[in-house]
Amino acid sequence: MITFYPGPSKVYPNIGTYMQEAFTDGVLSINHRSPQCMALTQSVITAIHQKLNVPAQYSIYFISSATEAWEIIAQSLTKHESIHYYNGDFGKKWAEYAKRLLPAVKTIKFDVNALPTFDNAVDENAEMVCITQNETSNGTQLRDLTVFRQQYPNALLAMDVTSSLGGISLDWDSGDIWFASVQKCLGLPAGMALMICSPKALEKARIINDRNYYNSLLFIDENFQKFQTHYTPNVLNIYLLNKVLAEVENISIIDKRIKQQATDWYNFFNKFDAIGLTYITQHAEIQSDTIIALEGSQAHIEAVKQQAKQAGIVLGNGYGNWKNTTIRIANFPAITQNEIDFLRQTLQQTYGT
Ligand SMILES: *Cc1c(COP(=O)(O)O)cnc(C)c1O
Repeated sequence: MITFYPGPSKVYPNIGTYMQEAFTDGVLSINHRSPQCMALTQSVITAIHQKLNVPAQYSIYFISSATEAWEIIAQSLTKHESIHYYNGDFGKKWAEYAKRLLPAVKTIKFDVNALPTFDNAVDENAEMVCITQNETSNGTQLRDLTVFRQQYPNALLAMDVTSSLGGISLDWDSGDIWFASVQKCLGLPAGMALMICSPKALEKARIINDRNYYNSLLFIDENFQKFQTHYTPNVLNIYLLNKVLAEVENISIIDKRIKQQATDWYNFFNKFDAIGLTYITQHAEIQSDTIIALEGSQAHIEAVKQQAKQAGIVLGNGYGNWKNTTIRIANFPAITQNEIDFLRQTLQQTYGT
C-alpha cells in the first residue's frame, strides 16, 4: 500500500535498511549514558542545526511526543495563563491539556477562512501564546508568524509544527518554543518528538524553576548539556533520525520542492470542484503546504477513499470535527513524485473530465 496518511505517515524508504543496521551495530542495547549514545545524540543535534537551519543559540531536546510538549510548556514555562489561537482540533486539544494544568487559559478561536485578527492594543503582559502553525486536522497553515511577536512583544511564543517541521523552512526568530513529533513530516516511526527552545524560553524556565516532574524543562536541559536524556530514550529513533538527516538535503531545498508540490496539488484539485470536493479552507493564503484537506458529502468521501484503496493507496481520514466528511493528503518529503503521480492518475481515471 502507498500511504498519504498525515500521521503516522510514510517513513523514508531507507528506514528498513537503517533499522537492520541499528541492530547489527548493536545500537539497540546501548546504555543511554554511554559515550556511544552521547556521541549519537550530539551528532543528531548538530545535524538538526545544520539541516533545519536552527540558530546556534536555540537548544534542541528529544522528548516522547508533541502531546508531551504541550504539557512541558504548561508545567515549566507558564506561571499564570496561556493564550491559545486555534481553528482546528489539535489547537483545541492543546488548550484543553493546558486547562488541566494552569490556573487560567484563554482561547481565541478563528475561522478556517480567515487569519487571526488582533483588535486590542499590544498586550505587554501576556506570558505565553500558543499557536498551531500547521493545523493537521483541517489543512490550514499560518504563513506569517511575525504578527504574534508584534502583538505580544514580551510573551513567549510556542509553535506546534508537528506536521510541518522537516517539510518547510521556519522563521525561528518568530517563536521561542517549537516542537514536532517525528511520525509526520520527518518521515520516521512514532515514539519521539523534538522540542527546540530559544534563550528567552530558557530564561523563563529558570525564573519559574519548575522541578516537580521527570520532564521539567530545567532537568531536561541539564541532561542535554551532557548530551544525555532525562529518561531512557527511544535510541532506535534517535539512530534513524541521525541517518535520515545525513541523507536529506537542507530544508531550504526541501521547502522549494514541497511548496511546488503543494501548488501542483491545489491546481489539480481546482479541476475537481464540480464533483463535490472542496477545500476546508477556500483562502489560498491559509491552505497548508504539507496537508491537503478536502471536504465533501460523507458518501462521496467514502467512495473516493474506497476507489483509492482498490488501487493500493491509503488516503487520510478526516480528524476530529471533520472525521467523516474529509480526506487528507500528506504532502511530506518522504513521499515520492511517482507516488503522487499515481494517486493523481487514479483520481483522474475515476473522476476526470
Ligand atoms: C499529530 C499532532 C499532534 C500530536 O502528536 P503526538 O505525537 O501524538 O503527541 C499534535 N499537534 C499536531 C499539529 C499534530 O499534527
